[in-house]
Amino acid sequence: MSRGPKAGYVRALPPAVHPHVDIRGKLNTGASPQAQRKREHVQGCSECQRQASRQVADQFRLAAWIEGAKVYDGLRCSKCSGTRRRVRDGSCYGCHLKDSPLDPARRTRVPRHNRDGWLGRLDARRKEAAGDVWVFEVGDWRARVYPTGRLAVDCDRLNIHSVDWGKVPPARIFEIAGSEPDLIEVMRQAGWSV
Ligand SMILES: [Zn+2]
Ligand SMILES: [Zn+2]
Repeated sequence: MSRGPKAGYVRALPPAVHPHVDIRGKLNTGASPQAQRKREHVQGCSECQRQASRQVADQFRLAAWIEGAKVYDGLRCSKCSGTRRRVRDGSCYGCHLKDSPLDPARRTRVPRHNRDGWLGRLDARRKEAAGDVWVFEVGDWRARVYPTGRLAVDCDRLNIHSVDWGKVPPARIFEIAGSEPDLIEVMRQAGWSV
């Protein structure tokens, strides 16, 4: 395959110019192409960086977001005195885990959408049998969400291959998720309230 335009080829489209990004204090750390485009634009746009630094109070958080991080070292938490925070909203990472169902002490799995209400259990099973599955990736984590709500996760790096993540002992999930923000994002996107 040759690089660049072929001889005689006239480039008809203007070069893509991404619009300036309005942060408004929200820093999306998701893996969607849209979120990545936003971040890449701000990375290379001093005007957007100036705007964002006025809208985001914690400059360490903003810097971490621009670098593509999901967690950063910020102000000490008054509750747990940890300093690890989520880039997404600046909240304390440790407290977040403690308050979440990932805490083995108080884990109850609450799907964000009540699928049973509008699809019906039977319909969900039928769709799953028909191979209906939603596939997505966060970092090097791959996820499949089935209509019944079953979440399957794979991470080659950690040699984790689970066909039903909901059946993994909560203590084990907690242990892994503690150092894997991408896994937490996977569960969040799958509808777990983490
Ligand atoms: Zn810009
Ligand atoms: Zn805390």
